[in-house]
Amino acid sequence: MSANSKIEWTTHTYNCWWGCIEDGPECDNCYARAFSKRTGHDVWGLGPRRFFGDAHWKEPLKWNAAAAALGVHHRVFCGSMMDIAERRSDAVGEQMDAERARLWSLIKATPNLDWLLLSKRPQNFSTVLPVETERLPNVWLGTTAGTREGWEKRVKYLRKLNPVVRFVSVEPQLEAIDGVDLHGIDWVIQGGESGPGAREFKPEWARSMRDQCSAANVAYFFKQWGGRLKKETGRELDGRTHDEFPTWRAAAE
Ligand code: SF4
Repeated sequence: MSANSKIEWTTHTYNCWWGCIEDGPECDNCYARAFSKRTGHDVWGLGPRRFFGDAHWKEPLKWNAAAAALGVHHRVFCGSMMDIAERRSDAVGEQMDAERARLWSLIKATPNLDWLLLSKRPQNFSTVLPVETERLPNVWLGTTAGTREGWEKRVKYLRKLNPVVRFVSVEPQLEAIDGVDLHGIDWVIQGGESGPGAREFKPEWARSMRDQCSAANVAYFFKQWGGRLKKETGRELDGRTHDEFPTWRAAAE
């Protein structure tokens, strides 16, 4: 929920709440939904959400202090068990608004943490995100595009915003995504689906995205091949790993 992360491209993950509602085929095998059910939390779809107390909200302050002591910036992925731009017009939605306001204050109080806000609903960023937060030096905004339709539907909303870093998570990639417009995009993460029932991810899809990023001078991070046992399939593409990050702040680590 909030800890050092096993996700290759971030230091920590943080969730303001648990729970979400699916938005596209990328969500079909949602790990967070399965994990919530397994741990006895019925927080998916239009149901309730699981909110957290003060101890949870203090964790990033400790991470920030640790990063500051080292003189570095650490990345925080928000969120792995939620979508920060999900909106609802009920009492749960009101609580989500309150938690978001708390997050914006936390982001300002943690300058040594780079907050990576990844959403399948980038069309909502402009309404949920205060304008000054959008342009803070420690806020990156990203969206997911595992299909061509997802790219066309979502990436255009990132370009309407002006964060220090715009990124696209092409994961889980479910089909070829060729000839895309990378204008205004700083970073692409790509990967196949993992876990039981993982859907196919073809090598030519990986090579195509790598080459498109190279041609457009966009930082490219190849996260994984995925599959049922992702440790066995690994992270190498044509004999090497691809672990690029946007270069706007070389000290990010
Ligand atoms: S948006 Fe993310 S957390 Fe929400 S259902 Fe889809 S994959 Fe799961």
